Amino acid sequence: MKELSPITDIYKKFPAKGDCIRYIEKIRWSNKPACPHCHSHRVSPMKREFRYHCNSCNVSFSVTVKTLFHNTRIPLQKWFAAIDLFIQNEKILSSRKLAEVLDINKDTAWTMIGRIREAKSEYGYLFAKIVETGEIFIKRKIRVE
Ligand SMILES: [Zn+2]
Repeated sequence: MKELSPITDIYKKFPAKGDCIRYIEKIRWSNKPACPHCHSHRVSPMKREFRYHCNSCNVSFSVTVKTLFHNTRIPLQKWFAAIDLFIQNEKILSSRKLAEVLDINKDTAWTMIGRIREAKSEYGYLFAKIVETGEIFIKRKIRVE
């Protein structure tokens, strides 16, 4: 029996990047954007999608600044799938297995696992919220041979 890819399920729930961003905005900001640098709410949406300009400290930002998703080139759907797999399989999730399931290279998988571990402590609030809402989870146990 072939395992279905968790990626397929995540893409069903979050078809576009914007769906992922809106989800993160909802849980990080309760849909009220706040500058990650100075915490001001005096912000304006920018023309460039998913970015805001802070009118207090005059910088631009997106919701991923200072989170585990910061400056990533990996699609957010793959991050969501990785977090899901990490939570469900923490003790046995290897970078080799993650690479195989997400169809990414092993170094990338290793980096992702590192960031997710770090996020559990450093970005505790956001990470806890992601786990709490459970919206990204399909609760997939991986098979280890
Ligand atoms: Zn600011």
